[in-house]
Amino acid sequence: MSKTEQFMTIIKTPTYRLALTYLAIIMLMSISFSVIFYNATTRPFDRPNTPASSQVNLPFTDPRVFDIQVRQAITERLEQTRQELFIRLIWINGCILLVGAGVSYFLARKSLEPIEQTMEAQAQFISDASHELRTPLTVLQTTNEVALRKKKLSAAETTEILEHNVTETKKLRDLSNTLLELLSDETSDVTLEPIDIQEVVRDAMQSIIPLAQSKDISVDDRVENTTALTNKSLLEQLLGVLLDNAVKYSPSGGKITLTSTVQGKTLSLHVQDTGYGIRASDLPHIFQRFYRADKSRTSDESSGYGLGLAIAEKISKKIHAQIEATSTRGKGSIFTVRLPLDD
Ligand code: ADP
Repeated sequence: MSKTEQFMTIIKTPTYRLALTYLAIIMLMSISFSVIFYNATTRPFDRPNTPASSQVNLPFTDPRVFDIQVRQAITERLEQTRQELFIRLIWINGCILLVGAGVSYFLARKSLEPIEQTMEAQAQFISDASHELRTPLTVLQTTNEVALRKKKLSAAETTEILEHNVTETKKLRDLSNTLLELLSDETSDVTLEPIDIQEVVRDAMQSIIPLAQSKDISVDDRVENTTALTNKSLLEQLLGVLLDNAVKYSPSGGKITLTSTVQGKTLSLHVQDTGYGIRASDLPHIFQRFYRADKSRTSDESSGYGLGLAIAEKISKKIHAQIEATSTRGKGSIFTVRLPLDD
């Protein structure tokens, strides 16, 4: 690529284009101001000079000669001033061009930063989503290809393959539903109403009890009888994610405790587990899409796609709640959901 082509490619980037637009605006204003200033300052120079003789009446000088000399001197001086002013304005505009270029580039970068970040996040999301979708698709394809290569399949083998296919298809459906949920309109309004929190907690617990029992994990519900302003099904879904994680990331024999505290007009629901815990360095990222903290542990069958907490956070925004996590590696984690109380 030639130097000119390289230069053209650079200036075609959005940052440079925006910077050039800003610079053009700055220069347009500066040049317009300079032209107006130059005209306003030099216009009086064009007025006819007042005859010097009428003002000055020196003895021993022919008034006509003196008049011509003075007029010439004044005209020369005015022309010199006009030129000096012109050169000075050119210098000032040159300086404004240099400083303006720097300022424009800085402003363009600042203006485009949030857009670039959003685009990067979207590209990352698409790439992560495609990667996650490809895995079950590849498994499906391989299983079916292997089965097709066999000359004869027993009834038991056929059932096994079909069961496997159903499991993988279900995974794909769940994943695409989760992705759609994450992409759904964030601003859509949700009706909040006074809800019996104990009832929501009971319902959310029901769905994880079988999984908890299979891992010999006890679930202790100590939530107080309170009414909060929320949405029942969304809060149940949010608690479902937290409880599911608490079971997934706890060794067998662990304990999950649900408690509640009230402070002012806020109800806090705490989901505490005695599981593996989360490293302090991972904690700020666990609500990001596709983030899986413990790669070795999360690569097993039971782990998800790193989308559960992203959904939990999205739900909490919808129901005007806040969610946060504290954790000690090797001891366990506490996830807290803060809800507005019903006054
Ligand atoms: P996943 O579907 O992988 O569980 P999540 O978004 O629900 O994704 O969680 C993100 C990551 O945070 C998990 O991969 C896990 O490493 C960590 N994590 C979430 N909840 C807990 C918990 N209760 N205990 C320990 N680690 C957890």
